[in-house]
Amino acid sequence: MKNTVLVVEDNEMNRMMLVSFLEDTYQVLEAENGREALEILQNSRNKISAVIVDLIMPEMNGYEFLKVYSSSPELLNVPVIVSTGEEGEDVEIECLGYGAWDFIRKPYNPHIIRFRVKNVIERSEFYLLRQLRYQEQFDTLTGIYIQNMFVHQTEKMLKENPDTDFMILHFDIYQFQVYNSVFGRREGDKLLCHIADLLRRMAEHVEHMTYCRIEADAFGICVPASVGDEIQKVVEYFQKDFQEYQRDYNILSNMGVFYIEDREASIPAMIDHARLASKECKGNYIYNYYIYTERMGEDIQEAQKIVNDMEQAMKEEQFVLYLQPKYGLTDYKLAGAEVLTRWITPDKGMVSPGKFIPIFEKNGLIMKLDFYIWEQSCKLIRSWLDRGIEPFPISINISRVSMYNPRIVEEIHELTVKYDIPPRLFQLELTESAYTDNPETIKKAMHQLQEYGHTILMDDFGSGYSSLNVLKDISVDVLKLDMKFMAASGSENQKRSESIVANVIHLAKDLELPVIAEGVEEKEQVDFLNSVGCEYVQGYYFAKPMPVEEYEKLAFV
Ligand code: C2E
Ligand code: CA
Ligand code: CA
Repeated sequence: MKNTVLVVEDNEMNRMMLVSFLEDTYQVLEAENGREALEILQNSRNKISAVIVDLIMPEMNGYEFLKVYSSSPELLNVPVIVSTGEEGEDVEIECLGYGAWDFIRKPYNPHIIRFRVKNVIERSEFYLLRQLRYQEQFDTLTGIYIQNMFVHQTEKMLKENPDTDFMILHFDIYQFQVYNSVFGRREGDKLLCHIADLLRRMAEHVEHMTYCRIEADAFGICVPASVGDEIQKVVEYFQKDFQEYQRDYNILSNMGVFYIEDREASIPAMIDHARLASKECKGNYIYNYYIYTERMGEDIQEAQKIVNDMEQAMKEEQFVLYLQPKYGLTDYKLAGAEVLTRWITPDKGMVSPGKFIPIFEKNGLIMKLDFYIWEQSCKLIRSWLDRGIEPFPISINISRVSMYNPRIVEEIHELTVKYDIPPRLFQLELTESAYTDNPETIKKAMHQLQEYGHTILMDDFGSGYSSLNVLKDISVDVLKLDMKFMAASGSENQKRSESIVANVIHLAKDLELPVIAEGVEEKEQVDFLNSVGCEYVQGYYFAKPMPVEEYEKLAFV
């Protein structure tokens, strides 16, 4: 493949001469003035290896061409040779100032021209190579190492200092995209360059230190870790500087720490561990760094395993219904039960919903599980009815995530139709905080379900912030008040929370809403609830969640 040379010359005679000198070795393009030349360059920038430009031309002369050229960074790798006549040294000086690479003089000497063109092309290729090599090592924005080089340098540093303990830090700016949108991308870039400077300055004071920009706003550091409070110092170094750097915005960093024990382990894996730890910070003021522990990795692995196992588990019917009885408080008579899911695995035994439900909620699998549990519950009611039993109602839980299913009302309705069960036996629990997620949709859905004959229980009432507000304009039928949100008995705040519970129950009475107190564990709680007129209770004090057969024995004697 031939290199391409662009000849810019208005005089046809001169142009033809230049072309004839060069065309054996190069592909030659021609332009009659500076403007044409720029157009050609802009359209085929990467293909042009050198430009020969005459100074005196109509429309856009050589000087004007050079002016544009010198202010276009993308063109600077293309060498420009200026062709001069009698103009003398001053002209050359001016051209050099605009970044001209070399000169040829009229009348043309073909040998000189060929050499000069060959030379500038070789030189430019050399620069390009060097630039590429630079980009392989350094981050173009901040000028510090990129991760590959950091890994390299860190490996070397660890080898050369076998007796020093090291730690790897990963840090980024909390909600950097917010910073970008408040101050603009330019300022965002400036902040990143500022951080690079901070790292450079820090490295001046730390004997052994490597650092790099990992990506976007994430940076990596490796420093000795012999002194206990070293991380604290690093964190303070950044926090202090950030406060001064941007006074009207709180720049917070997430710092994750990984102590290197096994020096043979892969550095990128160590960076990953530090990154994982940094995720724990979430912009927290007080705990602005986290140290990696094995647990963090295990949690993620475990979550992944739970997700992988779910489909199979559903097929093998590993998800089973447990029922926790509810009682009337005045007569201690059974009044119904709540369906609580248990995952019974062949190898790990019983996994509690507190473990897998949050994971399923994150990835949406919860919709599947919820529906499965609802269907199993309907089947259960059907089997009772078939056996001639008149069952108490049971309540199922609806995840807040399931509320995003636009067909939720239909799906629940279709279930009751399919198994031919009276909707009043199939009660629905929805957590209070779900109402604040998207109040309008939920209000409507809950209302429709009530119309179908379902009872709606507001779960975890008192755990959110909007409880009392929400009550005004949502139609629920029962409040569930969780005693675990109350202060422990004997504690300083006990009186206060008792008075809150008492007030809530009064308010509920005004609104004609029955209250179920759940999580009731102690006799004192029972007495107190009795004294304030609570109607229903559910909790370990009365009965724990139990397998269906056990519940049946209890309920249908
Ligand atoms: P929840 O709906 O608030 O259910 C009450 C939880 O409190 C249950 O925990 C129950 O076993 C526990 N509990 C009952 N009485 C006591 C007590 O006296 N003391 C204490 N400390 N705890 C008591 P569980 O079964 O571990 O379920 C935890 C959460 O998982 C439930 O909270 C519910 O939000 C969710 N969950 C359970 N099954 C399902 C389901 O099928 N679908 C959905 N979406 N969520 C479910
Ligand atoms: Ca519940
Ligand atoms: Ca609850």
